[in-house]
Amino acid sequence: MKETKSTCPYCGVGCGVIIESQGDQITGVRGDPDHPANFGRLCTKGSTLHLTASAEVTRQTRLLQPMQRLERNADPQAVTWDTALDTAADKFATVIREHGADAVGFYVSGQLLTEDYYVFNKLAKGLIGTNNIDTNSRLCMSSAVAGYKKTLGADSPPACYDDFKDAQCLFIVGSNTAWAHPILFRRIEDAKRANPAMKIIVADPRRTDTAEIADLFLPIQPGTDVMLFHGMLHLMLWEGWTKPEYIAAHTTGFDALKTTVRDCTPDKVAQTCGIDKADLLEAARLFATSAATLSLYCQGLNQSSSGTAKNAALINLHLATAQIGKAGAGPFSLTGQPNAMGGREVGGLANLLSAHRDMSNPTHRAEVAALWGVPDVPATPGKTAVEMFQAAADGEIKALWIACTNPAQSMPDQATVRRALERAEFVVVQEAFATTATCAYADLLLPATTWGEKTGTVTNSERRISRVRPAVAAPGATRHDWSAATDFAQRLEARLPPRASTTLFPYPLDSEAGAESIWNEHRESTRGRDLDITGLSWPMLDAQGPQQWPLPEGASTGRVRLYEDGRFPTPDGRARFVDTPYKPVAEQREARFPFSLNTGRLRDQWHGMSRTGTLGRLFGHVAEPVVQMHPQDMARRQLKDGDLVHVTSRRGSLVLPVQASAEVGMSQAFIPMHWGSEYLSGSTSIGDRVGGVNALTNPAFCPDSKQPELKHSAVKILKA
Ligand code: SF4
Repeated sequence: MKETKSTCPYCGVGCGVIIESQGDQITGVRGDPDHPANFGRLCTKGSTLHLTASAEVTRQTRLLQPMQRLERNADPQAVTWDTALDTAADKFATVIREHGADAVGFYVSGQLLTEDYYVFNKLAKGLIGTNNIDTNSRLCMSSAVAGYKKTLGADSPPACYDDFKDAQCLFIVGSNTAWAHPILFRRIEDAKRANPAMKIIVADPRRTDTAEIADLFLPIQPGTDVMLFHGMLHLMLWEGWTKPEYIAAHTTGFDALKTTVRDCTPDKVAQTCGIDKADLLEAARLFATSAATLSLYCQGLNQSSSGTAKNAALINLHLATAQIGKAGAGPFSLTGQPNAMGGREVGGLANLLSAHRDMSNPTHRAEVAALWGVPDVPATPGKTAVEMFQAAADGEIKALWIACTNPAQSMPDQATVRRALERAEFVVVQEAFATTATCAYADLLLPATTWGEKTGTVTNSERRISRVRPAVAAPGATRHDWSAATDFAQRLEARLPPRASTTLFPYPLDSEAGAESIWNEHRESTRGRDLDITGLSWPMLDAQGPQQWPLPEGASTGRVRLYEDGRFPTPDGRARFVDTPYKPVAEQREARFPFSLNTGRLRDQWHGMSRTGTLGRLFGHVAEPVVQMHPQDMARRQLKDGDLVHVTSRRGSLVLPVQASAEVGMSQAFIPMHWGSEYLSGSTSIGDRVGGVNALTNPAFCPDSKQPELKHSAVKILKA
């Protein structure tokens, strides 16, 4: 039996795993006791990973051969990699020649490895000359990115997992950590057991399992987070709980913010947020006066039409009370996906450039062009996720390359997304699983390796880079995502006017050396940046295990915590208060649509269930999709558990069983995000598919982060 150290491919906790294998078969998995994210623990998803890689699951679910569909609605035919990639290169070159570089788009994934992300980013921005590359991280962390940059100056989470044990107050907001980041929740439970005096505040429209551990639970109305945070600051100012010396020495913009929060009186906040004034005061007191306050937050803040404002308003509280840059304190975004961080590091979003550089900064653009050896990189921000599919639906984007993600289930407003996939002239889907809804729209299907087969790196929520290692050989004709992207890029390069004197993609295609050479190029791009990892190497990762960034040349370990010296990566070294006023959700409840629909994760499922859905045992927790409502709302409508209801928004309708749940507030409803149309509608015809809960969700997005408001849509619920 062979043992291989790698990383769990699910959430952003980034747990280390030891994969057991015999020959080409993965036979077991256990937590890596030496990995600092989990110290040997795994949750139900992580501990069943080996079962999702069985020969039977592989045979039934994996895409193992390039496939081409010569006509839409025809069955795809097996082709060779040469045929597939030459076809793709011909199509993309033709579209670029006839319609310009911005007529193509790449939609990739926070589940790709850093090396995959790097090649796709360079392919779009360096070779083709378009910034039309975005990722499902747009649906996940882009508001956190924008919030960090606006306030602290860089997209760098300042805290770390060890801070849990040093915190005296934990403020968990918009995060069901118990289900979405289970191993971190175990660490929170450990910290509470070790220090019962630690206070935990949970703010969430739903009374989730996470709320069970709270000393103070704030059941806020959906989307009112900014009002809550401004109201807490109002009280902190009134009570003298802010830290004027820290504010004067290390920040700017506080006077403008004070003016904004003056109106956020306890009465107004209590009424808007739907909480008691006494609880608001207690939350402000605990946050401001504890020796160390750590905030943990996730999609409740990010997936919002005010996502950046929510992130910034929370960070304001940390700056105003000096709860940052010390053990146990700071704002700490919990990353949804396993490598959303790595994607951000290589600039793999439509508005970012490599190594946290800004697209709007001419010096940064010139630096990236020089690193890549191209004359320039485009200045105009590319289409973000929602914009990209809208542009394809409008006929503006004609060729789409989708890798390791399933937009025909996960994007809001599925009717538009499916129209886009049908209207695009050429759709490439690079995937490990043949079962995703998006595969049905592909003109070309490219089989990718996945967990247990891939090689490269990922970065978790606490800036820690871990190796992903192959335990078994790639099955069938599957290839690593970076390898297929590199091969395509080389073929496209030969069909486009030259951008450089030698190939931009000199990486060996089918070896460990290829991934390492890509990572080394990425590493060099970080020199002198806030995430500098020029002191790190793959041999060091092998010898010393996962490392946090920054880790510049000469350093022996990474930095555990940021901003301990009170200096921030802004032009004047000071953090910035942001004074955005509260705005309600984009689509408010009203007489015709009287319920607030929320969506979210379950404990034992992941994303669209392409992997977790292969195991019956993971349905033991929740067997089928339901819409949860408050018992009183159900009684008023004469509904009982199991009744079928129509859930309808302005964009679509679903039929689901209803279930009473006291977790859900009055006039609110909750549907898990994992099930797609195949489960919900029972239809197998593409035209009838509606995309699960995202048939209903709202594509309205935050003006700064462009992250859509998946957490709130106005719906009506009627008995079917
Ligand atoms: Fe995997 Fe996340 Fe569970 Fe850890 S907590 S085992 S990373 S799913």
